[in-house]
Amino acid sequence: MKEIMTEYYIEAKSPKEQTGKKIAWITSGGPVEPLIAMDAIPVYPENYGAMIGASKMGVDLCEKAESMGYASDLCSYARADIASAVINGGPIGGLPEPDMLICCNNICGTVLKWYEVQARYYNVPLFILDTPLCHTEYSPEIKNYVEAQVMEYIKFLEEVCGKKFDYDRMEEVGSLSVRGQELWQAVLDTTMNRPAPMTCFDAFFHLALIVTLRGTQTVVDYYEMLLAEMNQRVKDGISMVPDEKYRLLWDNLPIWYKTRWMSDKFAEHGACLVADTYTSGWCSALKYMNTDDFLGSLAEGYTRIFLNCGTDQMAENIMALAEKYSADGLVIHSNRSCKPYSLGQYDIQKIVQKKMNIPTLIIEADMVDERNFSESQIETRIDAFIEMLK
Ligand code: SF4
Repeated sequence: MKEIMTEYYIEAKSPKEQTGKKIAWITSGGPVEPLIAMDAIPVYPENYGAMIGASKMGVDLCEKAESMGYASDLCSYARADIASAVINGGPIGGLPEPDMLICCNNICGTVLKWYEVQARYYNVPLFILDTPLCHTEYSPEIKNYVEAQVMEYIKFLEEVCGKKFDYDRMEEVGSLSVRGQELWQAVLDTTMNRPAPMTCFDAFFHLALIVTLRGTQTVVDYYEMLLAEMNQRVKDGISMVPDEKYRLLWDNLPIWYKTRWMSDKFAEHGACLVADTYTSGWCSALKYMNTDDFLGSLAEGYTRIFLNCGTDQMAENIMALAEKYSADGLVIHSNRSCKPYSLGQYDIQKIVQKKMNIPTLIIEADMVDERNFSESQIETRIDAFIEMLK
């Protein structure tokens, strides 16, 4: 993983005269496949945000953004990215400068303003794919509206890249993307076994490829290897948490600067986080994707993702995951940064408790900004939660 990601960032940061490729910054839930078909290099500020969080550089960068006038209530990925662009900061000395920005608001509204800020800063064109919220259904109006934009997206790419779109190549990339997502789903599903061969903390790490290199052979090869390893662990009865007693489901983004601490904390109680709503988000729309007509199914696949639905639907999805992975309890990260993910969580908690009668724990934190993490308070809550599970 480290080698692949290093190579990817080296290529992205190489002089453009050398690679001959355009750089496109894109939101994590954005349709990346047309970019790959155009031979552009997609770069994900949110993936960089995760790196910033994991490297514990979030507070400095967030404070820098705040000194520039951005509110501390804004998403810490956005703050960290806006600040790192100005000072070339962060773990790899900033991201490569973009030639274009692709923003899809299927994950949140923050990205709209964030990408507008960056489009002005770098003075590059911005394409916005507007995916209306599907509270309960994907209506014909939404379908027509988003499908029309997919064609505008292709036109935009042709203009910025200065070449014709290759529809055959698009279908090849689409097949690789679907194959990568199927394999990712299969990897995650290995935790249906007792004991689980991995935890969601491992999934947070292995997720990087399906986010950043979706639609490439590299992803397919990597997850084939990972799946084989997980299946072997299952066969050999190797568990990730020694003496697995409790199986839990995690909701929301990881707390990047505390993943090791959280992982150890739960493991010391024999609690295994077997699944999560975050990493499964990169294969949850598979059922809407059509490999025989990838471009035709792209609108639906990218509109009907986990975050782009109403609270009732989210609760249903969470309960389905709890059922599927035999979870004994639910751990909810109430994330100060991510409003669309966190706003309905207290309702979801009530729905899950009422319908499934399993204990739930709410942890208040932030995925990058450590100022919103109180270790002693969270430790006390986890200990009390485990007592409840017992
Ligand atoms: S608000 Fe949430 S979905 Fe939007 S960029 Fe931040 S973390 Fe991602």
